Amino acid sequence: MSFEDLSIADRLAQIRPTIPKSVRLVAVSKTKPASAIREAYQAGIRDFGESRIQEAIAKQEELKDLEDITWHFIGHLQTNKTKLAMERMQWIHSVDRLKLAREIQRLVDKGSPCPNLCLQVKFRPDANKSGWDWSELQQELPELDRLSSLKVRGIMTILPFGLPPQESREIFIEARQGCDRLREKPWKHLRFPELSMGMSDDYLLAIEAGSTMVRLGRILFGDRPN
Ligand SMILES: *Cc1c(COP(=O)(O)O)cnc(C)c1O
Repeated sequence: MSFEDLSIADRLAQIRPTIPKSVRLVAVSKTKPASAIREAYQAGIRDFGESRIQEAIAKQEELKDLEDITWHFIGHLQTNKTKLAMERMQWIHSVDRLKLAREIQRLVDKGSPCPNLCLQVKFRPDANKSGWDWSELQQELPELDRLSSLKVRGIMTILPFGLPPQESREIFIEARQGCDRLREKPWKHLRFPELSMGMSDDYLLAIEAGSTMVRLGRILFGDRPN
């Protein structure tokens, strides 16, 4: 029997022992129906990741009876959907630009709840992805630290597609070291306990390097249509 034929519970039974208790498993349910989330919930998962806000809300409406789910937004967030995301998601991993951070601050100051936030960083140039380059981020951190209503709690990174494992390992270690340096600085408001990195193909390397949250889609739910 191949991995593709297993139930979500069976897959989880194989994956769970490879993830330390200190690392949060976020099940990335994008493109999958609410019934798949329910199945994963019954197998014990409580953290779910979505990358489109309308899709997330539709599933939340179907799953209202599951009251203790923590929802994580992991996709590119358009400015005009920020308020909805803040109302609906407990985490936003993908704060990828100063303009978005300022918009979140503005909305919190008008009464919206502030989710926990991660700053999305690219440790290698990647035209397909948004986020700060590491050096750009260093320049904008002082200003981000002045946004006193934000709950910045860490860094999120996605590797460029298709790297050999050795290079993935190097980048994850770089991310960990960068995060460690941010943890040591005396910020007023910014905090960096979380390092969100690792997906289906590379999460073991990410955990080895010090990830605190892995975002697993295909390995739990099976392949997605492209
Ligand atoms: C889709 C996605 C994932 C999950 O990827 P898999 O390869 O299916 O594990 C993780 N993080 C982000 C930001 C994603 O968009």
